[in-house]
Amino acid sequence: MSLFPTYNRFPFTIESGEGTVVRDDSGKEYLDFVSGIAVCNLGHRPLVVQEAIEEQLKKVWHVSNLYQIPIQEEAAQLLTEASGLDYAFFCNSGAEANEAAIKLARKHTGNDKIITFKQSFHGRTFATMSATGQEKIQEGFGTLLPTFEYLPFNDESAVAELMGEGAAAIMVEVIQGEGGVIEADEAFLKAIEKKCAETGALFIIDEVQTGAGRTGSPFAFQHYGLSPDIITSAKGLGSGFPVGAMAGKAYLKESFSAGSHGSTFGGNPLASAAVKATLSTIFKDQFLHEVNEKSTYFMKLLKENLEGLPGVMEVRGKGMMIGIEVESEAIEYVHKLRENGLLAVLAGPKVIRLLPPLTVSYQELDQALQLLKKVLSTEFSRT
Ligand SMILES: *Cc1c(COP(=O)(O)O)cnc(C)c1O
Repeated sequence: MSLFPTYNRFPFTIESGEGTVVRDDSGKEYLDFVSGIAVCNLGHRPLVVQEAIEEQLKKVWHVSNLYQIPIQEEAAQLLTEASGLDYAFFCNSGAEANEAAIKLARKHTGNDKIITFKQSFHGRTFATMSATGQEKIQEGFGTLLPTFEYLPFNDESAVAELMGEGAAAIMVEVIQGEGGVIEADEAFLKAIEKKCAETGALFIIDEVQTGAGRTGSPFAFQHYGLSPDIITSAKGLGSGFPVGAMAGKAYLKESFSAGSHGSTFGGNPLASAAVKATLSTIFKDQFLHEVNEKSTYFMKLLKENLEGLPGVMEVRGKGMMIGIEVESEAIEYVHKLRENGLLAVLAGPKVIRLLPPLTVSYQELDQALQLLKKVLSTEFSRT
């Protein structure tokens, strides 16, 4: 093996996929309720995105941000129009999008301090690892980047009591994804927004997992009528083409002037083609309306059928971002589900996370429910 063992990989290979279904190298089929961790929001190999990339492949692949890239402008427009923000900056991942947000907030305010929350996840680069409120992510890497402070998540009074003066930003996930599919309370989010307005700290929302339609609106903050200064997006943004973006309000423009920040690959023509095709499909009222209808249907069934089972604590989530909290180790269930033909992912040790494509069918939701019911009804002991 020639790879650093940075991942705990399941012992099988996915060879092909279409829509919600993937097939492994032995021909076995699975319903993919992981979607590459909230990436394949339009399912595997959506034709609109494939055609857009193919069309771009025949023109030019990469030119550098030294030149005009009209398709990047179009992708930016989709992003800013749907989010109510003014400008976008493209990069290649969620961590890089958060890096851009952190750099912009520091430069704009002239302050260093960034407030984030316990159990948050913001990425693996040095700044975003420092922003992440989980010791297990930071362990062994030495002195973290100053100055990050972690407040308890969903603690409205901790935010209200915060001496926010001198902070560059408060950065939060609307639903903590890696932290366990934990939704922020509206009052908590409003308290952050208020504190930012009072102190001049920028309000940054990390939508890397919750954006691109995942929760049933273009971005999750829109469920709460918030007005963040900056949002970040990646994962589902390019349907599997690696791309990230940061979007911010117009008044931040001066702080990201020419030469202040950049990325060789960021928003190159291929990535921009993927973003444009993805967002113009997802950010349609009818599309998102259907996502919400399917979500309501599925959440109701999950709650009715699973919450009564021994060992199942709670079913929660929004749109197609769903967590099932269990009493014992969730990994055992994830293995059993896979054996039964359903791919799911952990969100912390006790939560089974389901991230089906937004295009999942009712029939596939019904099939998944039956598999979940079967596996969660069966007790098995840890080995
Ligand atoms: C996945 C994730 C990131 C990191 O994204 P990468 O593309 O892996 O760098 C950051 N924030 C949140 C909320 C995420 O879910």
